[in-house]
Amino acid sequence: MTSEASEKLEQFFSSFTGNGRPLLLLDYDGTLAGFRVDRFTARPWAGVRELLQDIQRQGRTRMAVITGRPASEIPIMLRLAAPVEVWGLHGAERLYEDGRRELEEPSESAREKLDRVREQLRRNAFGGLFEDKANAAVMHWRGHSHRQALSIERKTRALFEPLAQMDGLSLLDFEAGIELRVGRDKGGAVEAIIEEAGRDKPLAYLGDDLTDEAAFRAVNQAEAAHMSVLVRHEWRETAAAVWLRPPDELRMFLKKWREAVGRTRA
Ligand SMILES: [Mg+2]
Repeated sequence: MTSEASEKLEQFFSSFTGNGRPLLLLDYDGTLAGFRVDRFTARPWAGVRELLQDIQRQGRTRMAVITGRPASEIPIMLRLAAPVEVWGLHGAERLYEDGRRELEEPSESAREKLDRVREQLRRNAFGGLFEDKANAAVMHWRGHSHRQALSIERKTRALFEPLAQMDGLSLLDFEAGIELRVGRDKGGAVEAIIEEAGRDKPLAYLGDDLTDEAAFRAVNQAEAAHMSVLVRHEWRETAAAVWLRPPDELRMFLKKWREAVGRTRA
C-alpha cells in the first residue's frame, strides 16, 4: 500500500466520531474470499470471518454484503454468529437480518424475454457455465482456455446484446462472464442503503470486480466521509479511491475499522 493510500485511510477512520453507525459495505467473492470455480467452496480468507464477527459484536457498525450471488448463500458461506444484511443478485434482492426477503419484480415482457434465453441456454450453453438466477441469465467462462472463453463470450453476446436495453433488461459485464438481467445494480443498492441509514454516516465499500465499479461511484458521491476500496491482487483502472491486496491488507483494513469504532465507544 502506498503512503498516500494509508493517509487516505487514516483520514477516513478519523471521521468515526460515534455519532451514528458507520456503514461497512462488502462484496463477497474475490473480496472476502478467494475465487473458486465451485463457488460453494469459496470460504473467507483466514481471519476475515473473526474480524467481521468482532465488528458485529461491537454493535456499532451497519454491515451489509452486496453480492452477485443469491442472498441466501452468503450467511452459509460467512457463518457469522449473528445474522447479516445481504443484498443479492447485484442488488435486485434484499435479505434482512430478521430473515425477510424482497425481490424486485421485473415487468411481464422482461420476464418472458429472460425465460426464452434461459430455455435456450439450458439446452445449449455454448460450452460455458450457465447460471440461472431469479432476475438474470448468467454465463461464466472462468477456467476455460483463452480461445474457448472468447468463443463462449462471442456467442453469448450475440444472444444477449439485442435484448439488452429492452424492457429494462441490461447487460452486466464482470470478470470471466456476462449477465443479462433486470433490476437494481450494486450502485443502486449502495444508494438505497445510504438513503435509509441517513446521509451523514461514514461509509466504505470494498469490492474487486467490474460490477463493483457502480458501487464505488455511488460511494464517491456520498456527502459523508467515504472510502471506496478495490480489493484485488493486481491493480486495474478503477473508480475506487484506494487499492488493497488481499488478504493481508484486507485484514489490516478490518482491524483498523474495529479499532476506529472501538475508540468511539462512550
Ligand atoms: Mg467480487
